[in-house]
Amino acid sequence: MAEFKDAKIEFTVEAKLGTLEWKKSPNSHITLKDASEKSPCAMECKTKPCTTVCPAKVYEWHEDGKKVIVNYENCIECGACRMLCPFDNIVCDWPEGGMGVKYKLG
Ligand code: SF4
Ligand code: SF4
Repeated sequence: MAEFKDAKIEFTVEAKLGTLEWKKSPNSHITLKDASEKSPCAMECKTKPCTTVCPAKVYEWHEDGKKVIVNYENCIECGACRMLCPFDNIVCDWPEGGMGVKYKLG
């Protein structure tokens, strides 16, 4: 008699992201209200949740320049960053029509 074992399939976030496609807009749909050296990112925000919560790693803290870099091209439009900034410093709109991430169904 054949023996069947449970197949364990693991997907990492990175592997899932690798299945997506993007039509990259030349214009960012995400901006920081204050990106200056006196911004809340540089002066007040100790934990910088944007750099850890965003699943697509859109936000990167650069210690040298004391600023957050926004890699908007990687955005998967999950909407999390509309809520996560404790200083309300992120404006996240939708990409221009036809641009941005492309989800495949099936
Ligand atoms: S969470 Fe908001 S204030 Fe904090 S680093 Fe990110 S954008 Fe700046
Ligand atoms: S919408 Fe989601 S994927 Fe896009 S920047 Fe915000 S948290 Fe990251």
